[in-house]
Amino acid sequence: MKKVVKFGGSSLASAEQFMKVGEIVRSDSARRYVVPSAPGKRYTSDTKVTDMLYACYALAEADKDFSKQLKAIKARYNEIIEGLKLDMTLDEEFKVVEKNFKEKAGKDYAASRGEFLNGKIMAVYLGYTFIDAAEVIRFDEEGNFDSETTNALLGAKLNQVDSAVVPGFYGAYADGKVKTFSRGGSDITGSIVARAAKVDVYENWTDVSGFLVADPRIIDNPAGIETITYRELRELSYMGASVLHEDAIFPVRREGIPINIKNTNAPEDAGTWIVESTCQKSKYTITGIAGKKGFCSVNIEKAKMNGEIGFGRKVLQVFEDNGISFEHMPSGIDTMTVFVHQDEFMDKEQQVVSGIHRLSEPDSIDIESDLALIAVVGRGMKSTRGTAGRIFSALAHANVNVKMIDQGSSELNIIIGVANSDFETAIKAIYDIFVTVSL
Ligand code: ASP
Repeated sequence: MKKVVKFGGSSLASAEQFMKVGEIVRSDSARRYVVPSAPGKRYTSDTKVTDMLYACYALAEADKDFSKQLKAIKARYNEIIEGLKLDMTLDEEFKVVEKNFKEKAGKDYAASRGEFLNGKIMAVYLGYTFIDAAEVIRFDEEGNFDSETTNALLGAKLNQVDSAVVPGFYGAYADGKVKTFSRGGSDITGSIVARAAKVDVYENWTDVSGFLVADPRIIDNPAGIETITYRELRELSYMGASVLHEDAIFPVRREGIPINIKNTNAPEDAGTWIVESTCQKSKYTITGIAGKKGFCSVNIEKAKMNGEIGFGRKVLQVFEDNGISFEHMPSGIDTMTVFVHQDEFMDKEQQVVSGIHRLSEPDSIDIESDLALIAVVGRGMKSTRGTAGRIFSALAHANVNVKMIDQGSSELNIIIGVANSDFETAIKAIYDIFVTVSL
């Protein structure tokens, strides 16, 4: 059995947190590959080292003195090294960082040092081999992650060692210039290492015990999700559920490696399993609820639209020409509605309206703003009758007007459009009808 274990920033924010991590890694000999984030927040008002690095580098780039800021970053690492009583220093590494900052090595390089330096400490602490991600995680010339080159390079390197620490969040172009993933990208590194090392499980350790059925800012103490499929997760993270970076599932998905989200502060909790497929049913029929505010709907009406070939294409052409992506497109016989992000659409709305008139000659166009979309996701919906009925009767009882309904052909999710102001009420109503009643 082989496992990759990725630890998030809050799991590595201090020496005390490092000790918990040490215990977790040492308690299971399968945990042979470790992917650390940079030290995160120790308390709510604290600053993540990644943010400190960005701020420090901004000064360097503007030719201002950054010595105080760099010293504060070094102090964060020294506090960890001293707290762990390790016989090491990062003096040499910091000299290189300072020199490269002065030579303007780039924002990505700067941010990546958070993980790089934490990885150095982790390798000494665990007695594992340090592998610099810049040597094994590759981006192509366009800045896209090059999965195949990476898999070959990293696979070969991992084959030579028994256990390794690979810092998260960054890689490099072929010429060695460092590039980071987007924020939270250490999750992606964990997945990349899991694929290359052909492990059995990718454990992703964070500060919560897995995914919750709904957002805890809306629902008090929501139930947890035991098992979720990659596809369900994709739907939920797209709609705003954030625990794992949304791109983190792609590398492991190719190999069918399960991800287990675990809590560093409560390692005994089972956490959430993210799997390709499972015969385990969701406890509550639905797996999760997530949503986002801030959408607009563009409602287009034309008599006999149903008989006009190419009408939809022409409408979508206008959105494409204006660089606006659409979210959903429910349609009726003589109507068609396009849901877009309000902030993306606002500046261009009049161009879009006139563009649609010119290209597809509708009878009328009506725009509605301040809408929210809610996704009710669940693999169990396919085989359970009455799910939609329960959702809509709950919404009716809660006095929520449903403006749009869209059920994907996969029967994995039902998307509901409501007014922004009804968003929280709607989520509560749906949560209660599926979860609260069965508790
Ligand atoms: N340290 C990086 C960030 O704060 C990446 C990560 O933690 O995954 O976004």
